[in-house]
Amino acid sequence: MSENRDPQATKFVYDFTEGNKDLKDLLGGKGANLAEMTNLGLPVPPGFTITTDACKVYLDSGEEPTALRDEVSAHLTALEERMGKRLGQPDDPLLVSVRSGAKFSMPGMMDTVLNIGLSDASVAGLVQQSGDERFAWDSYRRLIQMFGKTVLGVDGELFEEALEEAKAAKGVQVDTDLDAADLKKLVKRFKKTVRAEAGREFPQDPREQMDLAVKAVFASWNGDRAKLYRRQERIPHDLGTAVNICSMVFGNLGPDSGTGVAFTRDPASGQQGVYGDYLQNAQGEDVVAGIRNTVPLADLEQLDKNSYDQLMQIMETLENHYKDLCDIEFTIERGRLWMLQTRVGKRTAGAAFRIATQLVDQGLIDEAEALQRVTGAQLAQLMFPKFDEEAKTERIARGIAASPGAAVGKAVFDSYTAIKWSRSGEKVILIRRETNPDDLDGMIAAEGILTSRGGKTSHAAVVARGMGKTCVCGAEELEVDTKRRRMTAPGGTVVEEGDLVSIDGSTGKVYLGEVPVVPSPVVEYFEGRMHAGADDADELVVAVHRMMAYADRVRRLRVRANADNAEDALRARRFGAQGIGLCRTEHMFLGERRLHVERLILADTDQEREEALTLLLPLQKRDFVELFEAMDGLPVTVRLLDPPLHEFLPDITELSVRVALAESRQDANENDLRLLQAVHRLHEQNPMLGLRGVRLGLVIPGLFAMQVRAIAEAAAERREANGDPRAEIMIPLVGTVQELEIVRDEAEQVIAEVERARNVDLKLSLGTMIELPRAALTAGQIAEAAEFFSFGTNDLTQTVWGFSRDDVEASFFTAYLEKGIFGVSPFETIDKDGVGALVRDAVRAGRAARPDLKLGVCGEHGGDPESVHFFHEVGLDYVSCSPFRIPVARLEAARAADESPGSDHR
Ligand code: ADP
Ligand code: MG
Ligand code: MG
Repeated sequence: MSENRDPQATKFVYDFTEGNKDLKDLLGGKGANLAEMTNLGLPVPPGFTITTDACKVYLDSGEEPTALRDEVSAHLTALEERMGKRLGQPDDPLLVSVRSGAKFSMPGMMDTVLNIGLSDASVAGLVQQSGDERFAWDSYRRLIQMFGKTVLGVDGELFEEALEEAKAAKGVQVDTDLDAADLKKLVKRFKKTVRAEAGREFPQDPREQMDLAVKAVFASWNGDRAKLYRRQERIPHDLGTAVNICSMVFGNLGPDSGTGVAFTRDPASGQQGVYGDYLQNAQGEDVVAGIRNTVPLADLEQLDKNSYDQLMQIMETLENHYKDLCDIEFTIERGRLWMLQTRVGKRTAGAAFRIATQLVDQGLIDEAEALQRVTGAQLAQLMFPKFDEEAKTERIARGIAASPGAAVGKAVFDSYTAIKWSRSGEKVILIRRETNPDDLDGMIAAEGILTSRGGKTSHAAVVARGMGKTCVCGAEELEVDTKRRRMTAPGGTVVEEGDLVSIDGSTGKVYLGEVPVVPSPVVEYFEGRMHAGADDADELVVAVHRMMAYADRVRRLRVRANADNAEDALRARRFGAQGIGLCRTEHMFLGERRLHVERLILADTDQEREEALTLLLPLQKRDFVELFEAMDGLPVTVRLLDPPLHEFLPDITELSVRVALAESRQDANENDLRLLQAVHRLHEQNPMLGLRGVRLGLVIPGLFAMQVRAIAEAAAERREANGDPRAEIMIPLVGTVQELEIVRDEAEQVIAEVERARNVDLKLSLGTMIELPRAALTAGQIAEAAEFFSFGTNDLTQTVWGFSRDDVEASFFTAYLEKGIFGVSPFETIDKDGVGALVRDAVRAGRAARPDLKLGVCGEHGGDPESVHFFHEVGLDYVSCSPFRIPVARLEAARAADESPGSDHR
């Protein structure tokens, strides 16, 4: 016999009294929480849950487990005995709902079917028992409608249309104005629709209704929408869903009945209070479906004080029990309150921070727990500029929030116009049906991107996120007509090329006109312009301040910034950076200085070369002095020149044209000719893999020596000014220790010269980036010559995967994401199995060779939450990221440390 579970022993059905909230894997979220509420003694209609295990058997074999039928029968019988009526019993029917409920609530699962057990026979019994003919027939028509649509796959529109027609025929607006006779007619018509569309009669046997509905829930796990959602959210496909069978309570029994939803606190602000909606004489989803106007939950106090008071008390019980914001569904049947669902509720990013600190203050959770209630992604969201909520806005559509931010600009419908207009200083929003690689330059030129098609993994979304650009995609209500350069919004609003639009990449909302943007208070706080201690301090700012202070106390990873100049360095410091992990010197070679680089490249003789270097030296030195001053007392890692030289030369085509034109006029410029030769000489097929990094230092005499001298002299100057410069010199793109040794010898000589001349001990350290697979694989050897490693995970990802980011993100990443080859771009979150494995091994080998080796990461992954956890776990000393990501990294470093107290080995 197989070792797998013995089907005889497996229990597939749990009564609500048997489960609890920690059994989400087995009972799904809804079932586990129904059980929890039952055991808390709250009024939950009795019922039972069919486990995800049963669903898994169905998904594997196409059939329910054989034992299931009997188990369901036993539980149903028990339920019937308890309720004193049988399912669908003609004179007094027990009715139930069949509700899907997976571990994670997900769209695409089967909608709940209410009123199961009603039939031509039992509807009469329901009339008798309730004394309300209208109610009974309303319940029956709802059953056929829901069952027809979700179980038998009939187009739901057909029922909706019939309902509309019935209302129109009677000249009424809302469904409650239809009387029993109208509803009887509707039932007849619905049954006909089922017969015609599903090719079978609506089942009259109540148990058959129930069994078919259960099976349909199982099958819905593999619906297209559910599968897509799981792929996007990286939910495993083999979890399966549970099914809840819950005895019905009726909110549609008249004005003393109704149904509602509520939150224990405001999911938008976190404030405690009464938040929710209530609808009288209604059932199920009516309250959220917008079929009639709901009233605010507070009004229930007037309508039914007893139920209201009881509800308030239950909400308090739930909060204290779950120690978190809960959302709930309830129904009142003739003045009696029933709880139908609860779960820890979703909330906005701002509310997450506020609620976490509020719960600490209430003594419900401690700070360590509070830290797990907020995420770096939420903090990042709070740092984007936002549209002014007070502003009057005209929202024209809502799409998918694909890449956060608030962008305003003139509508343009093609990339060419985007580029042209942005060159002349206009801000533009690029609007396309969907984007493709040809749109890349237009996307770069635009403030934001809006598409009417595609989801979170569409080309527009992937590329915009890669660029950190605001993007709303899949705004399907918008009809984009690129030929006529316009789009049409629902209601007929037309947006022409040049009209102002505003898009919110954090919410997916699209507005007509210019919506004013307000700076994020959280950024104002980090910038030091807003204080958490002030009397009138913003509650959110105080919450963030408290969480950050706590995070800084518990994290082990240090956080540095990638910053190239004093201004960025100062901001990084304000944001909590503990040093600079990457200063890219190539940015110091642009602008007017580019000409000096050009001279360096064109130099034919040592003398010409030295002249060029001599001109660059003081400029570089000045940059470093400023940087070291800004980061006084903190480490600053300066990377020597990295990019291929052609980046400092004119564009090959432009220059060729200029030379050709000059030649045709016979006044060719000597310098241009030399330049063109150099450009041709330096032109590379794959510049990413060409003459760059340490290779430049080795073939251009004096280049690295000049940079090292500038660093050393700047450090000496800061010392003389009583500063505390802590420079670290970093050699990029090393593949073998020999490269590093040669550059190192030269650098050490230069440093010694400066130290002798200035009579100081500069204590400069020399290290390298690990960004090539060979470097990672020989990290032990390289560590002999390096005092520190900084993992350059951008290049390491490119070289490990063998693809260049610029090329692949735009061309085939969408396809890869959609096919599920990766769940997230490896440039966003480190690929732990591949790139990460190299990092892990290099850490081990490096530390074995040199126990005090300092280890950090300076790729963009340094600011990505999931990657930060990984870097914590492999034992790096620090992560380095762009200034704006620093708070995110600080928070996530603390969350990582809290998760794994055991791994605190350094
Ligand atoms: P969802 O997962 O979409 O929230 P639910 O299973 O919670 O679906 O049910 C849909 C609606 O039907 C909800 O408003 C719920 O409160 C209501 N409902 C579910 N079961 C019952 C029941 N046994 N009696 C009354 N209303 C119910
Ligand atoms: Mg629900
Ligand atoms: Mg690199």
